[in-house]
Amino acid sequence: MTTSSAYSLTQDDWKNYFKQNSLSENLVPYWTDGLYKNRDLWRKHLSENNINFIQSHFSIELPRITRILESNDGTYKFQISFHDGLEVESVLIPFHKRYTVCLSTQVGCAMNCSFCFTGTQGLKRNLEAGEIVAQYLLVKDWLLNKHPQAILPNIVFMGQGEPLHNFVNVKKAIEVLNDPQLIGVGQRQMTLSTVGYLPGMHNLASFPKINFALSLHSPFDDERQLLIPVNQRYPIDQVLETFDQMSFLKRQFLTIEYLLIRNLNMTERHAEALSERFMNKKIIMNLIPFNPFPGAKWERPSHAEIEDFKKLLVQKKLRVMVRTTKGEDILAACGQLKINQMARAL
Ligand code: SF4
Repeated sequence: MTTSSAYSLTQDDWKNYFKQNSLSENLVPYWTDGLYKNRDLWRKHLSENNINFIQSHFSIELPRITRILESNDGTYKFQISFHDGLEVESVLIPFHKRYTVCLSTQVGCAMNCSFCFTGTQGLKRNLEAGEIVAQYLLVKDWLLNKHPQAILPNIVFMGQGEPLHNFVNVKKAIEVLNDPQLIGVGQRQMTLSTVGYLPGMHNLASFPKINFALSLHSPFDDERQLLIPVNQRYPIDQVLETFDQMSFLKRQFLTIEYLLIRNLNMTERHAEALSERFMNKKIIMNLIPFNPFPGAKWERPSHAEIEDFKKLLVQKKLRVMVRTTKGEDILAACGQLKINQMARAL
């Protein structure tokens, strides 16, 4: 009986599996190269019996891309359907000379953030590690087919779902994606974004050394709660303290993501409080103009308002970047992901 996705296993997991099932460990590289690169290797190096035996435990099927939307700015949004008919979206974003793939980690999301389209649909289920890896494989193969010279895309875990709410599967997916014998995306080429889900954060010591991003959006608990309800249980001080206690490697970064919302979180008082919290810390602030979606109660600030707030922060010696919004016309920008029929299909 097929029980699990074959893309949920690292090379070491495969070695253990082969050992436990009295299959020769020497065959593992042929099996995994066949799985990820060229199925002909199986026929050359593995017996039909062995192939069938492994496939009786693991599914090698990838999910299906059911729809691709193209933005005017070169961003692509992929609607991906799993074996049970549930769907998520993954986004391919051009950034300088390299692409970044934004992956989903859950179908829907339980966090219910008020600025996010995904949060309005609730949590349907966690994705298996192999389903997270498979999104990357599908999007990467599509990209390489279109642009054979493209470099292996970076990864951000910023699609549907709170990644640390699906800790075990996301951790395993990162290990598979990072495994040089399987896919080989570097740890610093991956960034995981969290709203500060403390039960997951408390286990980050055992996590791969990728980059992290915290969705902060306000330095004040009462205001942040309006945007991120889970802040009631996991307030800002506790979340930042947990990051402070983590040991970051030299080139490992924490980004503070800060949504810019008109008439809410862009005053001198906010800049002052942010400076108090982050002065002299090794962080970069990423300012993200709010991306409206149907029914949203917040408004996006004007260009001038964004520049004024950025200046305030720079005067207070914070390292600040304004994130250019990508894929807004196909609802592929931050906080806009939810299966919908509103954008232009390819
Ligand atoms: S912003 Fe992230 S954590 Fe919040 S509802 Fe949306 S997907 Fe979930």
